[in-house]
Amino acid sequence: MNNANVILVGAGPGDPELLTLKALKAIQNADAILYDALISEEILAMIPDNCKSFNVGKRCGEHKMKQHEINEFLYQMSQRHQTVVRLKGGDPFIFGRGGEELEYLQERNVETSVVPGITAAAGCAASCNIPLTHRGHGNSLLLHSGHSSFGEFDPSHTDKQNQTQVFYMGMNQAASISAHLIDQGHHPDTEVAIICQGTRKNQASQLGTLSTLPEMAEEMKHLTPGLIILGDVVGLASTQQQRLTAGQEKMIA
Ligand code: SAH
Repeated sequence: MNNANVILVGAGPGDPELLTLKALKAIQNADAILYDALISEEILAMIPDNCKSFNVGKRCGEHKMKQHEINEFLYQMSQRHQTVVRLKGGDPFIFGRGGEELEYLQERNVETSVVPGITAAAGCAASCNIPLTHRGHGNSLLLHSGHSSFGEFDPSHTDKQNQTQVFYMGMNQAASISAHLIDQGHHPDTEVAIICQGTRKNQASQLGTLSTLPEMAEEMKHLTPGLIILGDVVGLASTQQQRLTAGQEKMIA
Protein backbone atom coordinates (compact mmCIF):
# COMPACT_ATOMS: atom_id res chain seq x y z
CA MET A 1 0.00 0.00 0.00
CA ASN A 2 1.33 3.40 -0.98
CA ASN A 3 1.19 5.87 1.92
CA ALA A 4 2.77 8.85 0.22
CA ASN A 5 0.95 12.15 0.28
CA VAL A 6 1.59 12.76 -3.43
CA ILE A 7 2.03 9.89 -5.88
CA LEU A 8 3.40 10.64 -9.34
CA VAL A 9 1.73 8.00 -11.47
CA GLY A 10 2.62 7.02 -15.02
CA ALA A 11 -0.55 6.25 -16.97
CA GLY A 12 1.19 4.72 -19.98
CA PRO A 13 0.55 5.66 -23.61
CA GLY A 14 -3.26 5.57 -23.53
CA ASP A 15 -4.53 1.98 -23.75
CA PRO A 16 -6.14 1.47 -20.32
CA GLU A 17 -4.91 -2.11 -20.24
CA LEU A 18 -1.38 -0.76 -20.21
CA LEU A 19 -1.90 0.83 -16.80
CA THR A 20 0.01 -0.97 -14.07
CA LEU A 21 -1.93 -2.49 -11.17
CA LYS A 22 -0.15 -0.04 -8.91
CA ALA A 23 -1.31 2.89 -11.06
CA LEU A 24 -4.89 1.59 -11.01
CA LYS A 25 -4.84 1.20 -7.20
CA ALA A 26 -3.41 4.70 -6.80
CA ILE A 27 -6.18 6.15 -9.00
CA GLN A 28 -8.87 4.23 -7.09
CA ASN A 29 -7.55 5.39 -3.69
CA ALA A 30 -6.89 9.04 -4.57
CA ASP A 31 -8.66 11.92 -2.88
CA ALA A 32 -7.59 14.30 -5.64
CA ILE A 33 -6.08 13.77 -9.09
CA LEU A 34 -4.26 16.29 -11.27
CA TYR A 35 -3.99 14.97 -14.82
CA ASP A 36 -2.40 15.88 -18.12
CA ALA A 37 -3.76 16.37 -21.62
CA LEU A 38 -2.21 13.04 -22.64
CA ILE A 39 -4.46 10.96 -20.36
CA SER A 40 -6.96 8.96 -22.41
CA GLU A 41 -10.73 9.14 -21.87
CA GLU A 42 -10.86 5.47 -20.84
CA ILE A 43 -8.37 6.09 -18.05
CA LEU A 44 -10.15 9.28 -16.92
CA ALA A 45 -13.33 7.18 -16.66
CA MET A 46 -11.62 5.10 -13.94
CA ILE A 47 -11.40 8.09 -11.57
CA PRO A 48 -13.86 7.45 -8.72
CA ASP A 49 -16.84 9.83 -8.47
CA ASN A 50 -15.88 11.01 -4.98
CA CYS A 51 -12.37 12.02 -6.10
CA LYS A 52 -11.71 15.64 -7.07
CA SER A 53 -10.04 15.78 -10.49
CA PHE A 54 -8.32 18.66 -12.24
CA ASN A 55 -7.11 18.94 -15.81
CA VAL A 56 -3.80 20.77 -15.62
CA GLY A 57 -2.87 19.57 -19.11
CA LYS A 58 -1.01 21.56 -21.63
CA ARG A 59 -1.33 21.15 -25.37
CA CYS A 60 1.18 22.61 -27.80
CA GLY A 61 0.18 26.22 -28.48
CA GLU A 62 -2.59 26.53 -25.87
CA HIS A 63 -0.97 26.43 -22.45
CA LYS A 64 -3.49 25.82 -19.72
CA MET A 65 -1.24 26.12 -16.69
CA LYS A 66 2.44 26.92 -16.60
CA GLN A 67 4.74 24.35 -15.01
CA HIS A 68 5.50 26.51 -11.98
CA GLU A 69 1.75 26.96 -11.46
CA ILE A 70 1.23 23.19 -11.65
CA ASN A 71 4.02 22.66 -9.09
CA GLU A 72 2.42 25.12 -6.68
CA PHE A 73 -1.10 23.76 -7.27
CA LEU A 74 0.16 20.26 -6.59
CA TYR A 75 1.75 21.45 -3.36
CA GLN A 76 -1.42 23.25 -2.29
CA MET A 77 -3.47 20.11 -2.97
CA SER A 78 -1.04 18.05 -0.89
CA GLN A 79 -1.81 20.32 2.06
CA ARG A 80 -5.57 19.81 1.67
CA HIS A 81 -5.84 16.12 0.83
CA GLN A 82 -4.45 12.92 2.24
CA THR A 83 -3.61 11.25 -1.08
CA VAL A 84 -3.03 13.24 -4.23
CA VAL A 85 -2.25 11.51 -7.53
CA ARG A 86 -0.37 13.40 -10.21
CA LEU A 87 -1.37 11.39 -13.27
CA LYS A 88 1.01 11.77 -16.18
CA GLY A 89 1.17 10.28 -19.67
CA GLY A 90 3.67 7.48 -20.26
CA ASP A 91 6.30 7.41 -17.56
CA PRO A 92 6.51 10.42 -15.19
CA PHE A 93 10.30 10.62 -15.50
CA ILE A 94 10.61 10.46 -19.27
CA PHE A 95 10.17 13.97 -20.67
CA GLY A 96 7.23 14.41 -18.32
CA ARG A 97 8.79 17.04 -15.98
CA GLY A 98 8.05 14.63 -13.14
CA GLY A 99 11.54 15.27 -11.80
CA GLU A 100 10.79 18.98 -11.40
CA GLU A 101 7.48 18.30 -9.65
CA LEU A 102 9.17 15.83 -7.31
CA GLU A 103 11.91 18.32 -6.42
CA TYR A 104 9.38 21.08 -5.74
CA LEU A 105 7.41 18.84 -3.37
CA GLN A 106 10.44 17.37 -1.64
CA GLU A 107 11.87 20.83 -0.99
CA ARG A 108 8.61 21.46 0.90
CA ASN A 109 8.85 18.18 2.83
CA VAL A 110 5.92 16.51 1.12
CA GLU A 111 6.01 12.69 1.23
CA THR A 112 6.19 11.49 -2.37
CA SER A 113 6.43 8.29 -4.32
CA VAL A 114 6.56 7.42 -8.00
CA VAL A 115 4.73 4.73 -9.95
CA PRO A 116 6.46 4.16 -13.29
CA GLY A 117 4.49 3.85 -16.51
CA ILE A 118 5.00 2.43 -19.97
CA THR A 119 6.68 5.20 -21.90
CA ALA A 120 5.45 6.20 -25.38
CA ALA A 121 8.54 4.74 -27.07
CA ALA A 122 7.85 1.29 -25.62
CA GLY A 123 4.08 1.46 -26.19
CA CYS A 124 4.21 2.76 -29.77
CA ALA A 125 7.00 0.39 -30.77
CA ALA A 126 5.16 -2.61 -29.34
CA SER A 127 1.92 -1.73 -31.12
CA CYS A 128 3.79 -1.59 -34.44
CA ASN A 129 5.90 -4.71 -33.78
CA ILE A 130 9.10 -2.68 -33.79
CA PRO A 131 11.70 -4.11 -31.41
CA LEU A 132 13.48 -1.06 -29.99
CA THR A 133 16.56 -3.19 -29.54
CA HIS A 134 17.43 -6.34 -31.44
CA ARG A 135 20.53 -8.49 -31.18
CA GLY A 136 21.19 -8.10 -34.87
CA HIS A 137 19.89 -4.59 -35.58
CA GLY A 138 20.05 -2.24 -32.65
CA ASN A 139 22.07 -2.51 -29.46
CA SER A 140 21.52 0.88 -27.87
CA LEU A 141 18.65 3.29 -27.33
CA LEU A 142 18.87 7.01 -26.54
CA LEU A 143 15.67 8.93 -25.85
CA HIS A 144 15.78 12.51 -27.14
CA SER A 145 13.50 15.46 -26.56
CA GLY A 146 12.59 17.54 -29.64
CA HIS A 147 12.87 20.60 -27.47
CA SER A 148 14.08 21.24 -23.95
CA SER A 149 15.65 23.89 -21.76
CA PHE A 150 18.74 23.39 -23.94
CA GLY A 151 16.72 24.81 -26.87
CA GLU A 152 15.46 23.17 -30.05
CA PHE A 153 17.01 19.84 -30.94
CA ASP A 154 20.22 20.30 -32.92
CA PRO A 155 22.08 17.09 -33.82
CA SER A 156 25.41 18.92 -33.89
CA HIS A 157 24.91 19.86 -30.26
CA THR A 158 24.11 16.42 -28.89
CA ASP A 159 27.53 16.03 -27.35
CA LYS A 160 27.06 19.30 -25.47
CA GLN A 161 23.62 18.47 -24.13
CA ASN A 162 23.47 16.63 -20.86
CA GLN A 163 22.85 13.08 -21.85
CA THR A 164 21.55 10.26 -19.71
CA GLN A 165 22.80 6.86 -20.74
CA VAL A 166 21.36 3.61 -19.50
CA PHE A 167 23.18 0.31 -19.82
CA TYR A 168 21.27 -2.91 -19.66
CA MET A 169 23.36 -6.11 -19.27
CA GLY A 170 26.37 -3.96 -18.40
CA MET A 171 27.40 -5.32 -15.01
CA ASN A 172 30.13 -7.59 -16.37
CA GLN A 173 31.24 -4.93 -18.84
CA ALA A 174 31.46 -2.11 -16.29
CA ALA A 175 35.24 -1.75 -16.51
CA SER A 176 35.26 -1.43 -20.29
CA ILE A 177 32.16 0.83 -20.31
CA SER A 178 33.93 3.12 -17.86
CA ALA A 179 37.21 3.09 -19.82
CA HIS A 180 35.50 3.71 -23.18
CA LEU A 181 33.37 6.58 -21.94
CA ILE A 182 36.32 8.28 -20.25
CA ASP A 183 38.28 7.74 -23.46
CA GLN A 184 35.48 9.43 -25.43
CA GLY A 185 35.80 12.50 -23.23
CA HIS A 186 33.28 11.85 -20.47
CA HIS A 187 34.56 13.31 -17.21
CA PRO A 188 35.67 10.61 -14.73
CA ASP A 189 33.51 12.35 -12.09
CA THR A 190 30.32 11.89 -14.18
CA GLU A 191 27.72 10.53 -11.79
CA VAL A 192 26.72 6.90 -12.05
CA ALA A 193 24.11 4.73 -10.33
CA ILE A 194 23.87 0.97 -10.28
CA ILE A 195 20.45 -0.41 -9.39
CA CYS A 196 20.17 -4.16 -8.80
CA GLN A 197 16.91 -6.08 -8.39
CA GLY A 198 15.17 -2.74 -9.18
CA THR A 199 11.66 -2.24 -7.73
CA ARG A 200 11.82 -5.64 -5.99
CA LYS A 201 11.85 -6.07 -2.21
CA ASN A 202 15.57 -6.69 -2.21
CA GLN A 203 16.48 -3.68 -4.36
CA ALA A 204 19.99 -2.40 -3.77
CA SER A 205 21.62 0.62 -5.30
CA GLN A 206 24.89 2.41 -5.21
CA LEU A 207 25.87 5.87 -6.35
CA GLY A 208 29.32 6.73 -7.60
CA THR A 209 31.16 8.09 -10.60
CA LEU A 210 32.40 6.84 -13.93
CA SER A 211 35.80 6.20 -12.40
CA THR A 212 34.38 4.16 -9.50
CA LEU A 213 31.94 2.25 -11.72
CA PRO A 214 34.15 -0.86 -12.12
CA GLU A 215 34.54 -1.38 -8.37
CA MET A 216 30.84 -0.62 -7.74
CA ALA A 217 29.86 -3.28 -10.29
CA GLU A 218 32.32 -5.75 -8.80
CA GLU A 219 30.78 -5.23 -5.34
CA MET A 220 27.25 -5.67 -6.63
CA LYS A 221 27.64 -8.39 -9.23
CA HIS A 222 26.19 -11.04 -6.89
CA LEU A 223 22.96 -8.99 -6.82
CA THR A 224 22.17 -9.02 -10.54
CA PRO A 225 20.14 -8.25 -12.59
CA GLY A 226 21.56 -4.74 -12.54
CA LEU A 227 21.13 -1.56 -14.54
CA ILE A 228 23.71 1.22 -14.92
CA ILE A 229 22.48 4.82 -15.26
CA LEU A 230 24.96 7.53 -16.10
CA GLY A 231 24.59 11.30 -16.29
CA ASP A 232 23.94 14.47 -14.32
CA VAL A 233 20.42 13.29 -13.46
CA VAL A 234 21.94 10.72 -11.12
CA GLY A 235 23.05 13.62 -8.89
CA LEU A 236 19.40 14.36 -8.19
CA ALA A 237 19.09 10.96 -6.53
CA SER A 238 22.06 11.65 -4.32
CA THR A 239 20.53 14.84 -2.95
CA GLN A 240 17.19 13.13 -2.36
CA GLN A 241 18.67 9.79 -1.39
CA GLN A 242 17.47 9.85 2.20
CA ARG A 243 13.87 10.48 1.23
CA LEU A 244 13.86 8.23 -1.82
CA THR A 245 15.18 5.24 0.05
CA ALA A 246 13.73 5.76 3.51
CA GLY A 247 12.47 2.54 4.97
CA GLN A 248 12.60 0.58 1.74
CA GLU A 249 16.01 0.30 0.32
CA LYS A 250 19.42 -0.50 1.61
CA MET A 251 22.03 1.70 0.00
CA ILE A 252 25.34 0.00 -0.39
CA ALA A 253 27.67 2.88 0.40
N1 SAH B 1 6.12 11.00 -20.15
C1 SAH B 1 5.67 10.68 -21.51
C2 SAH B 1 6.19 11.63 -22.55
C3 SAH B 1 5.76 13.08 -22.36
S1 SAH B 1 6.33 14.13 -23.67
C4 SAH B 1 6.07 9.24 -21.82
O1 SAH B 1 6.84 8.61 -21.06
O2 SAH B 1 5.59 8.72 -22.82
C5 SAH B 1 4.95 14.08 -24.74
C6 SAH B 1 5.30 13.36 -26.02
O3 SAH B 1 5.26 11.94 -25.83
C7 SAH B 1 4.33 13.60 -27.13
O4 SAH B 1 4.60 14.84 -27.80
C8 SAH B 1 4.58 12.43 -28.03
O5 SAH B 1 5.76 12.62 -28.79
C9 SAH B 1 4.87 11.33 -27.03
N2 SAH B 1 3.71 10.50 -26.74
C10 SAH B 1 3.12 10.30 -25.51
N3 SAH B 1 2.11 9.39 -25.59
C11 SAH B 1 2.08 9.01 -26.87
C12 SAH B 1 1.26 8.11 -27.61
N4 SAH B 1 0.26 7.43 -27.04
N5 SAH B 1 1.52 7.97 -28.94
C13 SAH B 1 2.51 8.64 -29.54
N6 SAH B 1 3.30 9.49 -28.90
C14 SAH B 1 3.09 9.70 -27.61
